Amino acid sequence: MRQVKDTAFIFEQSQPGRIGHSLPELDVEEQALSTLIPSEYVRKEKAALPEVSELDLMRHYTALSKRNHGVDSGFYPLGSCTMKYNPKVNEDVARIPGLAHVHPYQPETQVQGSLQLMYELQEALAAITGMDEVTLQPAAGAHGEWTGLMMIRAFHEANGDDQRTKVIVPDSAHGTNPASASVAGFDTITVRTNAHGLVDLDHLREVVGADTAALMLTNPNTLGLFESDIVEMAAIIHEAGGKLYYDGANSNAILGITRPGDMGFDVVHLNLHKTFTGPHGGGGPGSGPVGVKKELIPFLPKPVLRKKDDRFYFDDHRPQSIGRVKPYYGNYGINVRAYTYIRTMGPAGLRHVSEFAVLNANYMMRKLAPYFDLPYTQHCKHEFVLSGKRQKNLGVRTLDMAKRLLDFGYHPPTIYFPLNVEECMMIEPTETESKETLDAFIDAMIQIAKEVEETPEVVQDAPHHTVISRLDEARAARKPVLRYEKEKDTLSV
Ligand SMILES: *Cc1c(COP(=O)(O)O)cnc(C)c1O
Repeated sequence: MRQVKDTAFIFEQSQPGRIGHSLPELDVEEQALSTLIPSEYVRKEKAALPEVSELDLMRHYTALSKRNHGVDSGFYPLGSCTMKYNPKVNEDVARIPGLAHVHPYQPETQVQGSLQLMYELQEALAAITGMDEVTLQPAAGAHGEWTGLMMIRAFHEANGDDQRTKVIVPDSAHGTNPASASVAGFDTITVRTNAHGLVDLDHLREVVGADTAALMLTNPNTLGLFESDIVEMAAIIHEAGGKLYYDGANSNAILGITRPGDMGFDVVHLNLHKTFTGPHGGGGPGSGPVGVKKELIPFLPKPVLRKKDDRFYFDDHRPQSIGRVKPYYGNYGINVRAYTYIRTMGPAGLRHVSEFAVLNANYMMRKLAPYFDLPYTQHCKHEFVLSGKRQKNLGVRTLDMAKRLLDFGYHPPTIYFPLNVEECMMIEPTETESKETLDAFIDAMIQIAKEVEETPEVVQDAPHHTVISRLDEARAARKPVLRYEKEKDTLSV
């Protein structure tokens, strides 16, 4: 059990009789609880709550919040997660009472403004991705993947193509891809990555067939490399009668530059909480809109938002729809933020986003390349992958280096993913960071590389300057202890 160094638990600060509020005296007759709640549900003993003043309470939780790392407190180069700055103007707009307080049961006549916002967001996302129609229902990236695959399944079934039970996924794919395919009722086939970090076309030709439902692809892929053979790959899949699914969770490299629709993709999902600046990673709900080409429009989740003259309305008469995938209309608040971002950036601004995301990643990759192994040497897109193989040979693992970065005040990059690179570090600087921030992180990485050679124990035992030292991560994940146990006066099990 690792001990928290300073602040006591809120229960340990408790003093009998101390309160954090004062309510006015009761001026109505007191009701016995048993008249309101069936007696078996009435608590027999007093609840064991900490007794503290409002100020103590405030200081306790403010102190805890300062121990968190967030994009507002420091650099956060977590590959594949696009931890870019979340502009505060998005928050202002999401709090406009007319948007924040709408209720999903209000009649359409009362919420025309909100429907217009959703409609225009759908149109903007369709234009950005090169798709014909978009649904805002899915609540996250993985949910979007599943929604898209269910539509592909419905499409094949409508054509009597029931034998299309296989989804092809590259070995570098995000873990949600095979998982979503499996939840949607497909079997997955893995296609290999070649020596250049791209899909092995010969292997793709081998695995494709009459049972192929779809190929799921991320482009740029999770190694940060653009699949330059994409048009040929699309032809291979389409000739076999399959569909192309684009995992656009992380579209930071392509905005205004290229579009999945133009590459030959039939279905795409976006993560508004990544590319389109929604706060995420414990900071808020996601949104994973899905765009489709014409052929798949009949299968979109219902109801679909329509416009007639100047009125917006939901069309529920959709006989081929896969049905609803979420109650109401998606995570509206996060959609408002994405809409605000798109409107404040404009088309030229979005293109700039991608240009700078790619520039920052390449700058950092070239600066770090002399100190770490660079498994793929071509230019990267919005992120890149290093290998800690050289350091491993000196007895220091990538996990140790990630922990050491915490001492420098940085959130570590994604590590051990993608799975096909040994001792992998996947770094995504994003476009919102200054050159000074990038340089400072590069300096920290170089210093760690030197420590590995000179004082490896400093890295192996890291972190040294954080509130808690290194956790047993597997145990923390498998046996989380989330309750304070009063009898033992401790958090340990
Ligand atoms: C984040 C991510 C996902 C999953 O998105 P969630 O919103 O976490 O479900 C899928 N694919 C890629 C490439 C991602 O980066």
